[in-house]
Parts: sequence; C-alpha cells; structure tokens
Amino acid sequence: MTSFELPWHNALWERYQRLVDQGILPHALLFVGVPGVGKRQFAERLIRYLLCHSRTGSGRHCGQCHACHLTHAETHPDVRYVVPEEKSSVVKVDQIRVCNEFVLKSSQQGFYKVAVVDPAEAMMTAAANALLKTLEEPPAKTLLLLISDRPGLILPTIRSRCQVVNFDVPASPIALDWLESQTQGGTSADIALKLAGGAPLVALDALASGDIEQNIAMTKDLASLLKREVLPSQVATSWIKQAGQPEVVVKRMLQWIQATLRFSCAGQDSLLDWMPGATVFRYLAEKNDSQMLFSVHDQLTEALVYLQQSNPNPTLLLEKLLFGWLKLMPGK
Ligand SMILES: [Zn+2]
Repeated sequence: MTSFELPWHNALWERYQRLVDQGILPHALLFVGVPGVGKRQFAERLIRYLLCHSRTGSGRHCGQCHACHLTHAETHPDVRYVVPEEKSSVVKVDQIRVCNEFVLKSSQQGFYKVAVVDPAEAMMTAAANALLKTLEEPPAKTLLLLISDRPGLILPTIRSRCQVVNFDVPASPIALDWLESQTQGGTSADIALKLAGGAPLVALDALASGDIEQNIAMTKDLASLLKREVLPSQVATSWIKQAGQPEVVVKRMLQWIQATLRFSCAGQDSLLDWMPGATVFRYLAEKNDSQMLFSVHDQLTEALVYLQQSNPNPTLLLEKLLFGWLKLMPGK
C-alpha cells in the first residue's frame, strides 16, 4: 500500500487534524470521491492519529506507542471494519447489528472507538436503517467512518447524519509529481494519469501492472497493421501473448473505438489529445462516417459477449476483429 500521507490531502489533513487536536471531531464522517483519490489512505491516517496515545506536534501519529503498534498490526480492538463478506457485494444487516454492539461497548483502551463501513453504498436498506440509530445517538468518543465511491447510492437519511468530506481529483501537477516520485520518473506517468481520469492511485496501479506500456505497444501494432506492415494473424498472436486474456484486448479496442467515435461525432475529444495512438484514431475518425465506426464498435461488443458465453479460439477471434479495423482504411 502506498503511504497514507498523500500530498494532495495536505489542506484537508490540516483541517481534520485540528478537529482531532481540539477534541471536536464529528462523530460521523462520510468520505466520498471517485476511486483512486486516497479516501482509504486518509481514513487510515485519521484513525492512526486519533487513536495514538502520544501524537507528535507535527500532526502525525507517533508510531511507537501501544495503540500505534496495534493499528499498525491491524489488530486494534477499538477499530472495526465492516466490509462485504467474501463472495458478497453487500453489507448485511447482521453485520451492522454487530457493529452497533461494538460501538455501544466502551472502548477497551479508554480512548476513541472507530467503525468503518466500506463501501457505505453496499449497505442495503435494512442495514442502513440499522445504522441510523447509532448515527443519531452515538456514544461519546465514537467515530463512524463511511467510505463511498458512489455516494449517490447511499440513503439520504444516512448521508444527512454524516459530515460529508469530498475528495476531489487533485490538480494534475501535484498528482504528476507524486506519481513520478512513486515510479522513479517513468515516462508514461502523464498518460497513466490522464487515462485514470486524474486519479493518482488508479494511475499508479496501471503503471505498476504494465498496463500503460502495453497500451502504447498495442496502438503501435495497430498503426503497423493499418499500414499493412504486419498481418492480422501476427498482431493477434502477439497481443494474446502480451495480454494473456482476449477480453483485455477486446476491451482495450473498445476504448479506442469509443474515443474515435466521440471525436467523430463531437468533432473533438480531449481523450484524443493525449491518448497513445491519437494520430491513428483521429485519422480513422476523419476518413470514416460514424456508421463505419459503429460497425467496428458493434463487432467488438458482440465479441465481448461471445467471449463471456463460449470459448472461442482467441487468436482467430482477434484476427477477425482486426480485419474490421482494416476496413476503416481508405481504399480497402
Ligand atoms: Zn502512537
């Protein structure tokens, strides 16, 4: 996991650190924002600071006290995480009932008690209603921390009882600086950040997994294919080898054609300003009407369904899809 201290949180951290220091932290916080902006890192930082027995003057948990050892080992008895159980996507009402009991019992360390519900939108109505009473009448020294990537799905009654903390996508210079510091100045950091919609942690994952480099290499292959320098079968074989799964390749091609279509229909697409292979996609958008582009799009979506329902030969399937791209070249 990356460090809990993310530079774009500085102002927000100062505010919440002060609330902790002054003993006026609200009892219920709802952290909202798109994935990859560090809501969970901030939550962890806040929990460690809140529970630390000897906070330093610099606004950090000490890292040495008993509480810090426990939070570090993720065994602190006064912290409870409520997450969907394995193979489930929802937080069940029974889980919230157990959480309520935990909150009502006095703290084992004589300090704060923290319950984290993550993701908060995973609470179905019964679970959310079970949490309401605790939100309305929380015991002293309690923090209920709700985290959500999709706050629109949270019941208004829950939302209105929490202080909502918005985690915005950081300004790109600060995100880019951080990303480069994490990746030893990789050349693709800016592309990764844009592909991630500005969310630094998503970009970091994409860089670490080699996803970005693969995307760049694949668009180069596509350009060579369209120039007839390589055969569809060669490209298909190479892509399967690189990506492992045909779904990965088909999904990437779908992103390409969607960006091309947006450019074709709207005349502009900020994605195409920086996307790997932008020149190729812009050229295809200019040389084809949207009907032609949609036919490639439809072929790709059908292929995706086909892959999920049956077990086709991946190389042959990709080869067929690449012939679809070739049809977009003028004179072909
Ligand atoms: Zn400590």
